[in-house]
Formats: sequence, structure tokens, C-alpha cells
Amino acid sequence: MAAPRDGLGAVETEGNGGRSESSGAEVVLSSDPATPAPLCPHGPTLLFVKVSQGREGTRRFYACSACRDRKDCNFFQWEDEKLSGARLAAREAYNRRCQPPLSRMQCVERYLKFIELPLSQRKFCQRCQQLLLPDDWEKHGEHQVVGDVSLTQLKRPSRLLYPLENKKTNAQYLFADRSCQFLVDLLSTLGFRRVLCVGTPRLHELIRLKASGDKKSNIKSLLLDIDFRYSQFYMEDSFCHYNMFNHHFFDGKAALEVCRTFLQEDKGEGVIMVTDPPFGGLVEPLAVTFKKLIAMWKEGQSQDNSHKELPIFWIFPYFFESRICQFFPSFCMLDYQVDYDNHALYKHGKTGRKQSPVRIFTNIPPNKIILPIEEGYRFCPLCQRYVSLENQHCEHCNSCTSKDGRKWNHCFFCKKCVKPSWIHCSICNHCALPDHSCEGPKDGCFVCGELDHKRSTCPNISTSKKVNKAVRKKKQRKSNKMKMETTKGQSMNHTSVTRKKERRETAHQYLCS
Ligand code: SAH
Ligand code: ZN
Ligand code: ZN
Ligand code: ZN
Ligand code: ZN
Repeated sequence: MAAPRDGLGAVETEGNGGRSESSGAEVVLSSDPATPAPLCPHGPTLLFVKVSQGREGTRRFYACSACRDRKDCNFFQWEDEKLSGARLAAREAYNRRCQPPLSRMQCVERYLKFIELPLSQRKFCQRCQQLLLPDDWEKHGEHQVVGDVSLTQLKRPSRLLYPLENKKTNAQYLFADRSCQFLVDLLSTLGFRRVLCVGTPRLHELIRLKASGDKKSNIKSLLLDIDFRYSQFYMEDSFCHYNMFNHHFFDGKAALEVCRTFLQEDKGEGVIMVTDPPFGGLVEPLAVTFKKLIAMWKEGQSQDNSHKELPIFWIFPYFFESRICQFFPSFCMLDYQVDYDNHALYKHGKTGRKQSPVRIFTNIPPNKIILPIEEGYRFCPLCQRYVSLENQHCEHCNSCTSKDGRKWNHCFFCKKCVKPSWIHCSICNHCALPDHSCEGPKDGCFVCGELDHKRSTCPNISTSKKVNKAVRKKKQRKSNKMKMETTKGQSMNHTSVTRKKERRETAHQYLCS
């Protein structure tokens, strides 16, 4: 059955440079187990459907689940396409060729050899992102090689390896130390003894560092990640090469069993899953995967525990709140702002701090989660949870309503709190940015505002410059009109908003309200 084309899904991809933005396609989930999806090098593909002129095409196709860029994986097959035996064989051979050159076992053997080498012989090739054994030196003679790789360096691979920043596939954004420390301390305070790290290599390594350094906190961690480079640094029981968009274990059954054993140890007691997926990823396939991991954990539970939930931290931008809660109604969003090292936007700075939009979604009761007072969080006794300093308790909403860390204002017409940059629009009958276009683009085209197509298929695209100008003029007239309608004291931010920001705000508007 095809998932209905919903406005939220469209906005989700529109705002995040997903596959659909570039090609006018959207994901649909195949729920027919009788026709298994064909395989690409990244495991089972997902079923997509092209959308043009606002209508869902009838022809559906399979494409890679992990790579939203054709350059990274160009798998394509129409749903109803019949492939010849020869082509299927060629594809199988290709998929095999694309697998990492070393098996998981071989990686482990190499690692064991490597740590036995004297310091002076422990080298790492920066170009190939690979630990070198003496036999490999010659081959990497011309490459940039780091020598004297210490055990401390080996324990922090996320610092030795460069982050894979290509947005469309890996989008590797590593936690800033502050946030990573906070997470480890929190996990330990909450009493967890095992952490399933899904796409959180830096958290994984910090947990292990702490465990080896101090006997009291002996938390175990298993990393599941698509970044194969990490397999050089971990034994089989602490890393699995894994695709979180289709729950695919690259090393087959053995790896799946490692994960199952980990989740079911101690009858499933004391384990939590922490995940920080690429933000461009679609929420739905992720939710499907997480439900599979939850089911795996559940299998190991005794009957009388059947009401229990696997504790989860899902780290994701705040504007995905409604989308995530749609799949996991027991989740709530914490106010804590997760900071990153290599993300210009989500980095904490002393001066002119850009606030990170990234939050923790969890099914752990928020009153159990203490946020650091020294970083400006406070406890709201009415809401029974920690909130940002600026997040004020609204007596009308009876809650601390801010989502983005700024102080929000209560709108009596909308009967709810809204962003400080928003004002009530009497034409739209709800709050919006001052220079929004009334009856605005909704989930339609961002060029001309029509509802029946997206920007990528806009018939006005060649004249888009002209159109933009016209739209801007129209907006200016509207916002002037609104200026007169606003009451004193409401913020009127008329500084020119860039198109991108506006688009993002539109996404927020649909995702938050
Ligand atoms: N903040 C985290 C890293 C998050 S970046 C930390 O510091 O530990 C996203 C992570 O997800 C990266 O490690 C990336 O390799 C991984 N990833 C990206 N696509 C994936 C996929 N399809 N399956 C599994 N992991 C993936
Ligand atoms: Zn090399
Ligand atoms: Zn309010
Ligand atoms: Zn309003
Ligand atoms: Zn258009």
C-alpha cells in the first residue's frame, strides 16, 4: 500500500534537501512482504513514487535507502520492471564488488595485530583513512601518513578520521564535547548499563573511554553505523556495519545476532537506544527501523513486562516534533540544545551564540532528566521538567511553550504561544511571519505559490526571477497592511528575510503548528 502523499512529508523533504526536492519524488513504503525490494549495495531499496504537477505518478520505482544523491548510489528500477537473469547476475556481482574490501573478521585480526606493534610502527594513512600494518607501508608511501598512533588516539577514532560531511549521505556531524559529556553523564545518572548507539560514533567512544577509565561507570556500548571506517577500531561485539534506513546489517546474520544479544542481555533490563540520524533523512523509514529494533528488544522480555517500552533518545531538530510524535506518541521533546563540533550552524559560541535547533526526543519521563543549570536551564515546577532560561511558563497555555529556546508570545486569537518573530494575520486567521504571503504557498510551489506542483516542476521556473520580484512586491504590500493591523508591542521584524530562511520557516510553520 502506498503511503498517502501528505503535506508534512512534502515539507519535510522540501526543507531538508531530500531526494524529493531534487527529483520531485517521494518515498512510499512497500508493505507487501510477498514482493521483497531489490538490493543495492546498501541493502534492500525503498519504493518511491514520482510526483509531478502535484499528482502522484502511477509508476513507482526502487532507489537506494541510504543515499539521497544519485552520485553516491545510482540504483534505479521501476517497480514493474522485469530484469533478465544476466542483468540480475551482473547486479549481484556489482553489489558484491561494492562491499568493503575486508571482512569484519579480517578487520578485527588487523586491529589485534596493530595494537601489538610498537608505537613507532603504528601508522595511519590519512588519504585512505586506514590503519596501516608494516606490509601496507609501501603502498601508501606517497600518501600523507600519521605516525606514532597512540592507544589514546585509537580509542578516539572520531578524532583520527575526518568527518564525512557530504550532506546527502553521511552528514556526519559530531557532538561537541560539552554535549557528548552531558549525554554520557545523563545515561549514567539514569542507571543505564548498555547503550545501543545508532549513528553516534563519538558518543560510543566516550562511553567506552569512561567505562575503561572509571570502574564505577561500567556502561557497555554497541555502535551501529554505515561508516565502515569505524570497523578498524572495534571488535565484532562493539561495532556493526549497519544501514538505519532499512535495518540492514552488512555482515549478515552474525552481526544481527550481536545486536540481538546486546538488546536482550539481562532480559532487556538497563539498555537504551541513542540515535542521531542524518537530518535530511526521511522520518518514516527511520521510524520503521526503530520499531524493528524495539521488537527485537521486546522478544527478550518476559510476558509480565509487555507494557514496557525500550528507552530511546532520538536526537533530531525541533521542527520534526509533530512528525516524530506521530510515529512515537509517547515521546516528548526535551529543551536541551545539542551542540556539534563541525556544524557551523549548530555550534555553541560564547558571543552571538547561534542556538542549535537540535533536541532530544525521548520516552523517558522528562522530570527524570536534569538539564545543566550552569548552561542556563531551570526547573519549571508547574511543567515538572527542565526548560531553557528564556522559555517562560505561559499561564494561558499552562506550559513552557517555547520550542526554539527564545521567549515566545501568547496570541489570544490563536489561543496559543507563537514565535517572537510572528504576528497575528487577520487574513490568514493565524500567526505567521510578517512578510508571509497570505493563503501562502502551503505545501505548493515555492516559486509561484501554486498548490498543484513543486518548485522543481514549476512551469514558471524560467521566469522565476520576474515572479520572485512580483511575489516580493505583493508581500511588501501585504506586510505593510499588516503593520497597521498589529497591536503595539508585537515584534515586527521586517529585515529582509532570505528565501531559504523563509522556506525553512514555512516548514516550521507546518511542522510545529
Ligand atoms: N552526533 C553523532 C554523529 C551523528 S552524524 C556523534 O557525534 O556521535 C550521523 C551519523 O550517522 C554518522 O556517524 C553517519 O556515518 C551515520 N549514518 C549516516 N547514514 C547512515 C545510515 N544510512 N545508516 C547508519 N548510519 C548512518
Ligand atoms: Zn594511503
Ligand atoms: Zn500561551
Ligand atoms: Zn495568532
Ligand atoms: Zn511554480
